[in-house]
Amino acid sequence: MRRSTISRPAMKHRLNPKYMKLAVKAAQKSIRTLGGGPFGACIVKSGKVVAVAGNTVFKKDATCHAEINTIRIASKKLKTYDLSGCVMYTTTEPCPMCFSAIHWSGISCVIFGSKIADAAKAGFNELCISAKKMKKEGGSRVKIYSGFLVKCCGKLYKEWKALEKGRPGLIDHKSPYFK
Ligand SMILES: [Zn+2]
Repeated sequence: MRRSTISRPAMKHRLNPKYMKLAVKAAQKSIRTLGGGPFGACIVKSGKVVAVAGNTVFKKDATCHAEINTIRIASKKLKTYDLSGCVMYTTTEPCPMCFSAIHWSGISCVIFGSKIADAAKAGFNELCISAKKMKKEGGSRVKIYSGFLVKCCGKLYKEWKALEKGRPGLIDHKSPYFK
């Protein structure tokens, strides 16, 4: 019988720590420059890095999560909104906004370290819905891989907390970004 439901070629991607490490470095830059929260992402296509970015909410706007930033860079670079065949590495599970953007861009697979619940625990005002649940309920074809280099990604929250030690008021916790 003819299989009619497969509309995209099968995508193969071997998990590679070097891409997550680029995402971690971008997150560290966000922390150290006070650009935004401790989050970073990296988009890869056919073994080539297409985009790396950290969270820049404090310097730009509320939508500037690392995942959205990398999607914007990748689309500009590849001159298309269609990111089919791309893989995203992100230090924390995508929030509903970012998961939706990943879905709309056609990114084939998202690989993350920490869980969204970890971000909520660290004080961020997350809409705590897991990527798995969004995929299931929304019927997205995005593949999900969780817990990759989770220790390395988890350390970002420690660095974030350490940032404020001895410098109270450095970050505005009354903003909508925090619980
Ligand atoms: Zn997000």
